[in-house]
Formats: sequence, C-alpha cells, structure tokens
Amino acid sequence: MTGKVWLVGAGPGDLGLFTIKGLEVLQNAEVVVYDALIGDAVLTLIPDQAEKINVGKRSGSHRMVQEQINSTLLEKALEGKRVVRLKGGDPFLFGRGGEELELLVENNIPFEIVPGVTSAFAVPAYNGIPVTHRDYTSSVHIITGHRRSSGNTHSIGRAEASRNEKAAGSAAASVCENADASNEISGVTDSSVETDTSGRSDGLGIDYEALVRTKGTLIFLMGLSTLPVIMQGLLRAGISPDTPAAVLERGTTAGQRRVLATVSTLEEETDRARIEAPAIIVVGEVCRLAESFAWAEKLPLAGKKILLTRPKELISGMAARLRKMGAEVLEMPAIETVPIQPNPLLENCFKTDPDRSSGPWTGGRIDWMVFTSPTGVRIFMDWFLTDHDIRALAGIRFAVIGEGSAKKLRQYGIRHDFMPSVYDGETLGRELAQKIRQETRRETDLTGDSPIPEPHVRVLIPRAAIGSRELIEELEKAGSIELLDIPTYTTEYVTRGIIDARGQIEKGEIHYAVFTSASTVRGFGEVMKGADLSRIKAVCIGRQTRAAAQAQGMETRMAQKATLDALLDAVVQCAAEDRKS
Ligand code: SAH
Repeated sequence: MTGKVWLVGAGPGDLGLFTIKGLEVLQNAEVVVYDALIGDAVLTLIPDQAEKINVGKRSGSHRMVQEQINSTLLEKALEGKRVVRLKGGDPFLFGRGGEELELLVENNIPFEIVPGVTSAFAVPAYNGIPVTHRDYTSSVHIITGHRRSSGNTHSIGRAEASRNEKAAGSAAASVCENADASNEISGVTDSSVETDTSGRSDGLGIDYEALVRTKGTLIFLMGLSTLPVIMQGLLRAGISPDTPAAVLERGTTAGQRRVLATVSTLEEETDRARIEAPAIIVVGEVCRLAESFAWAEKLPLAGKKILLTRPKELISGMAARLRKMGAEVLEMPAIETVPIQPNPLLENCFKTDPDRSSGPWTGGRIDWMVFTSPTGVRIFMDWFLTDHDIRALAGIRFAVIGEGSAKKLRQYGIRHDFMPSVYDGETLGRELAQKIRQETRRETDLTGDSPIPEPHVRVLIPRAAIGSRELIEELEKAGSIELLDIPTYTTEYVTRGIIDARGQIEKGEIHYAVFTSASTVRGFGEVMKGADLSRIKAVCIGRQTRAAAQAQGMETRMAQKATLDALLDAVVQCAAEDRKS
C-alpha cells in the first residue's frame, strides 16, 4: 500500500501561528522531512517515534539538493508511510512546494497541502505593519531577493556580501546567499529556492520600474544579502529616497528585531544594527505605522526565549502561560519518569490476608502517606488502583508537599490532611513531625499513665528513587516515627531531540530555564554535560531546586512561593529587571 505526503506550512516561528490542521497532520506523521527555518516549538511537536529527516542542515557546505528531497518523499511514500514535508511559512511561497509535488504526481502518490501562515505577512504584522492600508496603499507585492544560484556559489556573511557588491558595483552577480551562520534562505534549500531566470543586470531579475509604478507595499524575502542591490534598483527606477522602509529580523520569535529607515538609509541602518537572517524587507508608506502599531515587544516576556524542562507528561500548561505573555518557549523534557514495576517493597506494605479484599495490611498499619510531587501521587495511585479499591486507603492520612500534589490527589477523590506552610521537603518534614509529635503527646496525656511506651507512627513515603534527604532527616528527628521511604519511580534522562539547545544556550539565545524540581535540574545538567550554563538564568520553584541549579553553575532566581503562579511571577520579574538594566 502506498503512503501519502502532506506538504505542510509550519508558519513563521511562533507556535501559535502553526495551523490546527498542520498540527493534526504532524502528530500522525511517520516520517517528517523538515527545513532549517521551522520554529523550535513546532519541531518539538514532531512525534518521538517519527523518523526525522533534516534537509535544511548544512553538512560541510552541502544541503540535501532538491532532487534528493523529491526522491526521499517518493521513497518514503512508496514504503507506505505517512510523510509530512514541513516547510517554513507557507509551503508554496518561495519554497518550491510545487516542484516537490511533481514527482509525486508522476508516481500517483496521494498528497494534501496544508497552507501555512507566511512570514511575508505575519512578520510585518508582529511589527505593527499592516501590509495594506487604504490611506497608504492598495496593493502588496512579494518578491524574492535571492540571486539565482550558480555552480560556484560559496557562503559568506551579509557584511562580506555587501562589501563584495560595493566593490563590484551593481553587477556583482557572483555574490551568493548569506546562508551560513544566519541561514538567510533556510527554509528552502540551495537549489530549492525559486529564483528568477530573466537575467537582468543586477542578477536579481527584478523589474524595479514595474514595482515602483504600482505604488504598492513591496515585501522582499531572502533579500538581506542583496539589500543594497535592491535599494539601488528601486532608486534607479525613481522611488523617492525618503520612502519608508524596514528590515524585520526573525519575526514572531524571541529574536524579533526591526530597523525602520528609508530606502536611502536602510542599508546603513541595517548594517549598524547587525541584522541577521532570516529577515524580510518591507518598502512602503505602511512602514510608518510600526511606530504606533507595534505591539509584540510590549508583552511582558517579549524577546525572551525560555527553556522549560519538566517530566514529559507534565509539560504544556506552563508553556502556554509563558507564551501568552510573549515568550518563545522551548519545551525540553529532560527527564522521563518510569514506574518501578514490579515493586515488592510497596507490595509488602499493602499485603492483606488472602480472604480479605482490603486492610488491615498484614505488613502493619499505615498512619500517614506523604507525597512530594504530583508525579509521585499519580504513580502510586495508578499502581494501587490496579489491584485495590480506593476505600482500602480509608483511615490513612495524607500529607502533600504543595498545591500541585494536593490537586493531583483530589483527582483520585482524596483530600489531603496536611500541607506545610512552605512547599519544600525540609519544611514538610519539620512541620509534619511537629504535628505528629503534638498528636501523640495528646494521646499519651489522655492515658495519664507513665512511663508510657513511645507511640509508634508509621509513615509511608512513595516517591522518586533519587528523592531528597531533607524530608527524611526532619522526620527522623521526631523519633517516634517509623519511615517507609519507598522508591516508586526512577527518573531517566532524555537526550534525544532534534533541537540544539546546547548551541542555543552557548550563543546566549536562551535567556531563562524554568525548573520545577531538583531532579529535573539534575536531568538537565546531565543532558547538557560540559556546556557552559553560566549564561542562562535558572528560575526555580524552591530552595532545593535552586541549590541544584547553583551546583550546575547557573545564575538563579527563586519563586516567592512554590507554586506555578509564583514561578511565573518570578519569570516576569526577571524579564522586567533585564529590561531595566
Ligand atoms: N515559505 C516561506 C518563505 C521561504 S523563503 C514563508 O512563507 O514564509 C525564506 C525567507 O523567508 C527568508 O530568507 C526570510 O526572508 C523570510 N522569513 C522566513 N521566516 C522569517 C522570519 N521569522 N522572520 C523574518 N523573515 C523570515
């Protein structure tokens, strides 16, 4: 049976601009063939088990050439796979989407197209530039600024490219795309760029006179390295040198920046701002509106890229909240929780006589159960309820470390009996010990006899195999407590993933990492072994988490309270301070 190919637009970067249909298709993909310009957040949605083929990456100086991409799609479809061809922005706009379909059509491979939000419109919008406006313009034109690639192209940066152009004048046709560090054309591969073939003198083949005559908004994609050539072309064609123009860098992401100038000054201003690809050029009166319409940079977390590491199954709520406040979020599950199965230690605690279905447990009465994380609650409950009825827990009292665990417990129909004043292991241990001591004292007071044997309280703590010591130490101090500290799950480090988080951290592109547990910090440290983490600020939910982050060499900030709300506040606070300094 043949498979099928979906040509899917991933949008310009911001996860929220990926379409619902694109998401559905992606989540069902068995093979994903993707380019370099896909937003990290979209990439993290590629299913773990899908085969991932990166055709945008330069190995040496070669990307996969277009023919190879075409045949890869065909090959995988003939294997019967559901293949997603993921492209930046919209797949048909300067993306050679059409050409990728030809081979499929020839071979009768079924396909679907899922359009995407194009950078040509979304990036101006995120900069407060409406591409048309009745008072200014009634048309908009999208033009490629990419030079036709020739056999002897080599990669050079924009500065060098423009220097070459100046030296060689407007006929600097040998200048090539700025593809290396900045990936100007990433999103399309070298040969996959739709280029002009008319061979006009500046090598771009643009009919500047026609463009200027339209008086429309002009949007150039892939034009950063040829910016001087384009501006000169427009000027020669008679555009007013004072026409507003803008260069918009990495729009809709945390790296979004904007240069506002005029046609005559845009090159200089762009150089001064050291703008890098990807960027689009907008020429037209509408650029003026950015001053008053710009909005994205006003969000509290604008310009911040935040790494979120949590156990895989917990991810998402926090990410959505950070995104709503304007952050670009990279979700990286550093650890995965794996239940310990079978678990004889735990089974011993809940053994009953064969002829009874519930307690008393032959292993001894259990007075308290202590949960130190929502994951701990979930794993215990799922295990317990496989063989028991919830009523079998009647009589046991429940202590939780904080709101998250309490909420999880409620999902199983149980309300907690105890929560500490501060949500950390040490406080939980100390305050619970205090409570138990008070209660047992009261009991012994009532009996009135002395000397009385130390009352014996049994406390079960089902938790991570690498749980912290503080909780146990505090409880042990209380003396009369028998502790059953039983590991119910292990945390495993996840190293797979197609995003180069390490590289981004080292380049200073990731500003904060948000941590909700010490074990996650340790998992993260493991994955990032050897990386210099001093450039990243760790925003931590509590003291133990912070200590773990400090041990990894990260600058830290701790939430006022160990709740997700307070953690979010701490992130916003950091951003506000950064903005000031
Ligand atoms: N199909 C894509 C365009 C591919 S051509 C789309 O519809 O958006 C690649 C060019 O798109 C880049 O050189 C740059 O000019 C532009 N581009 C893509 N993403 C961008 C972004 N986030 N910010 C600025 N320009 C972007």
